[in-house]
Amino acid sequence: MKIELETIPVWDGVQENCECFICSLMAEAQKDAINFYLGNSVMNPETRVRVNEHGFCPKHWCMLTAANKSQGVALMGDTYLETTRKKSESAINGLLSAKSPRQAKKVVEAFHSVLESREKGCLVCSAMEDRLQRYLYTTCYLWGEDPSFREAISQGKGFCLHHFSLLLEIGQKALSSNLYPEFVREITQLEVANLDRIAKDVHWMTQKYKAENADKPWHGCEDAHKRTVDKMTGRSRVIDPVR
Ligand SMILES: [Zn+2]
Ligand SMILES: [Zn+2]
Repeated sequence: MKIELETIPVWDGVQENCECFICSLMAEAQKDAINFYLGNSVMNPETRVRVNEHGFCPKHWCMLTAANKSQGVALMGDTYLETTRKKSESAINGLLSAKSPRQAKKVVEAFHSVLESREKGCLVCSAMEDRLQRYLYTTCYLWGEDPSFREAISQGKGFCLHHFSLLLEIGQKALSSNLYPEFVREITQLEVANLDRIAKDVHWMTQKYKAENADKPWHGCEDAHKRTVDKMTGRSRVIDPVR
């Protein structure tokens, strides 16, 4: 499958100069996907068929209900639950007629697997995954094609470890084999320099809590614990839509 380029958002992301611009683009992607299922699209029969079939993961159902757009969520919940009941009807009948211990174990397993398959394929997660692939691919592609983009990346703060690892992986597809080793070296150099910066900041934060350092300046390290977690996990911004 050919991956579409997303030059404009990726350039905007780089210029944002945050700890990981892929994280920040993914937070946007999540917001857009949630808004899509809170808007008029839930009235569209095709969308509803997809919602009934795939639904959302627990985290994204929670984000939908937290948005206070009750009617749309009620409509989706109504027909999604109906579909779940249909798909699990025979498993539920099995549970109701369990007789022997062996049979009980078997019907419980059958019900468990129906439920597991219902929780797969969240529409918000899938939309985000598509965008993630395009953003990662575009980042690698522009790094290879546009010297000014390569310069902008090298002036940035690197990536969270999660997206750093995915970028290195997708670079193989997006770049020529000649350029690939140089990409791996350069992006890693940038990442290591920025991990050193974060490490220094969070260490200074720990020192600031000592009585002898109470009067010394923070040097901008008041939020170093949050930046450290963001850099390590890369997911906190995406999990919490408020940030
Ligand atoms: Zn990230
Ligand atoms: Zn999800």
